[in-house]
Formats: sequence, C-alpha cells, structure tokens
Amino acid sequence: MGLTGLEIYKHLPKKNCGKCGPPTCLAFAMSLAAGKASLDSCPDVTDAAKEALGAASAPPIAAIKFGFGDYVNKLGEETVIFRHEKTFVNPTSVVVEIPDTLRGAQLDEKMADVNFVFERVGLQYNLNGVAIRNVSGDAETFAEAARLVTEKTRHGLVLISEDVAVMERALADVSRRVPLLYAATADNYEKMIELGKKHSCPVVVRGNGLDATAQLVGKVTAQGCKNLVLDTGNRDLSQTLADYTMIRRLAIKRKFRPLGYPIIAFTTASDPREEMMEASVFVAKYASVVVVKTSKREHLLSLLALRGNIYTDPQKPIQVEPKIYEVGQVTPASPVYVTTNFSLTYFSVEGEVQASRVPAYILPVETDGTSVLTAWAAGKYTADKIAEFIKSSGIADRVQHREVVLPGYVAVLSGKLQEASGWKVVVGPREASGIPAFAKGRYTQGVPA
Ligand code: SF4
Repeated sequence: MGLTGLEIYKHLPKKNCGKCGPPTCLAFAMSLAAGKASLDSCPDVTDAAKEALGAASAPPIAAIKFGFGDYVNKLGEETVIFRHEKTFVNPTSVVVEIPDTLRGAQLDEKMADVNFVFERVGLQYNLNGVAIRNVSGDAETFAEAARLVTEKTRHGLVLISEDVAVMERALADVSRRVPLLYAATADNYEKMIELGKKHSCPVVVRGNGLDATAQLVGKVTAQGCKNLVLDTGNRDLSQTLADYTMIRRLAIKRKFRPLGYPIIAFTTASDPREEMMEASVFVAKYASVVVVKTSKREHLLSLLALRGNIYTDPQKPIQVEPKIYEVGQVTPASPVYVTTNFSLTYFSVEGEVQASRVPAYILPVETDGTSVLTAWAAGKYTADKIAEFIKSSGIADRVQHREVVLPGYVAVLSGKLQEASGWKVVVGPREASGIPAFAKGRYTQGVPA
C-alpha cells in the first residue's frame, strides 16, 4: 500500500521553495503519492526522509542505464501514462541488431549507419546502439564481434545470448562499456543475474507472457538485482501493445513494483516500412529500447522524428535562443531579418537564407516559441517588442545600415516598428520560401549604408 500525500509531506523539508517543480512541499507530496514525481527532485530532502519514504520515493518505473561516458542510454523514470499529462522523460533508445558473424565491409557499413547524425530544426537525430545476436553459437565469435563493434562505435551495446558461458566470455572483453544483457529466462536467470551483478550491467528479464514475466521478476529481485529491463516474450504486435499498456498502467497507477521497469521491444516485420510502423507503435507505447533490423537512414528518419516529437515537453514549444544569428560570411552590409524564436519558424528562415546565398543576420525575437502569426495574435510579437530586441541585441554595432526585413504576414506592424526602432522597415515575403527570390532581387550588392 503506498503512502498518502500527507504521510509523505511529514518527511519533506517544508521550505515551499518550489525547486522541485510544484510550488509547495504539499503539492510535491501529492505528486509523489500519485507517482508523478521523484523524490530526487527536492535537493533538500534528508537521508532519513529518503529512508522513511522508501518505495514511495522511487520513481514508478525504475531508472536503468547502459552504455558509457557521453553515450549512456537512460531508460525508464517515466511518471505518466500519457505524454499530455506532463511529459515523457527518457527517449526510446533505437538499437540496430546484427549477427555476431558479420565482418569486413558489411560490418563497416552497418557501423557507419549506426554512427550517422542528422540535424533538423536544431535537434540531432541519431541511433543509440548495436544489438549483437549470438547466431554462431560460439563464444569466441560472439566476443570478437563485441570487441569489433566497440572499436567502431561508442554507442551502447546489447548482447543477445541466453548461454551464460557465451555471455561471460564477451563480458570479459567489453564489460567496461556496460552493455545491456539479453536475457535472463526461467531456465538461466540465477546465473545470468549473478553475471549482471558481477559486471554492474543491466539484465533483460524475459518471461513467457505478462504474468510469467512478473513472477520471474519477483524471483530475480529476491536474488538482490533491480537493474532490470522487461521483455514479456510476446512478438505478436497487438499482444505486445496490450502487454506494454498493461505494464505502464500497473506500474504507474497501481505502483506494481515487479513491472516497474523499462521495456525492450523487438520488431518482427521483414519489410522496412512495416518494420518502422511496428517500431513506431513501440516508441509511442511504451518501449524504452526498440531493437530494429534496418540501419538505413531512409527507413529510420521517420521513426527518429516521431521519437523526437513524442519526447519533447508538450508545455514547452521547441525554441531557439533569442540572439543574433549569422548565416554565411556576413559583412556590415548584410541584410537583417527578424522572425520569432519558434524553432520551426527560425530554421525555415535560416534554411531559405542559406538557399538565397546572400549572407544575412537573423534576429529571432522571444515569443515563447510561437510562430509569427500566433505570436502576433497573442500580442507577443509587437512593434515595441521587436524594436526593443533590435536595440538590445547589439545588431546596430554589427551593420553599417539601418534596414530590417519584417515577415510579410505582419506587414501591419511596419509603420509602428519604423517609428519605434528608427530603422527602415522592409516588408519581406509572407513565407520563408519567398526569401531566396526576395534576397536576390534586393540584396545581392548588400544593403547601402
Ligand atoms: S524542493 Fe523540497 S523544500 Fe522546496 S518545495 Fe519542493 S519539496 Fe519543498
């Protein structure tokens, strides 16, 4: 039985400082009782309180890590069922599976795919690891594959073998990379769990269905290991979706500890497009690791974009910092564009300025991450505010002219902006896509002083 909010409140510092997120200790206690917060969010909580609160202080889904250094994959720690309730915390790790027999140019090609980084609207999209499956049945082949992979990528490792001796041989070479071990089953769990504990590596517990998985977790935790990831063993898509939904609900609503761990999912479809649809379901509900077969970016980018969207905070639009941005080799004669600090708006403008081949400055005004028309309608993109930003940004020290380009959608602000800023205001195109033609028509010789 979990503690009530009032019982938890008695152990909190009662400073009502708001550092934990909610404005008061009581509100924080209520969030803890509902499983929507972690005690770690309060920096002033005492060790005695941590001990007293026990399970109530643990996140409903345990925090598990694999990988090393800057390439650690953080799993779990989720506190809500639906993203719109608050936010999802640790993005799903997407891991590419390879057989342990893969070598030479084929292995190099896979690793190049795994290491790729794609930038979109200021965000980096990348894969998170390699899962090596022991198809050879040979311990040395498996260990060699693990070694070779660690030489070619710094991303995380998932080692797939139910043979404890084979796993132990590979760990002798690569345990410093803290791989995720797959899997402890009803047949091998005692030894596999001991191996995980010895090397401080998380272990996947794979059951045969939801109930059997929960029972197996009970036996494993009785062995003193809570560094776990779950696999219910089902591979049928509708059944796995039902399992994962049940796991998330039981962990968060009922605080059912045996299922309070991150989930690993495996795709089954052989067609890459179907595989990506399958993987998308797992990313949305509720896998922390998805193991895929394809490594091609033309297949994976949609999945990574979906992950990026799901794991952003719905209460905070993606924003860029309001400051002066230089695009290309700017000079004091380069034009100046003003826009808003909504990422999609800013990067649309930046991309089109680049395409125009006319170097320019861009000033994204702080609008709480809203687009031009939305910000204008909400009173966040006014002539006074733009004028103030032109002044405070220091752009006047970087250019010899006093001319600024205003988005065409808010042409209505041009007169007032000219008055408030003292700069000549030129109404630019409505859409960013109009910038190349606009810039080539007006600014190829720069802006006259
Ligand atoms: S950070 Fe701690 S002391 Fe401050 S309001 Fe939250 S629970 Fe209270």
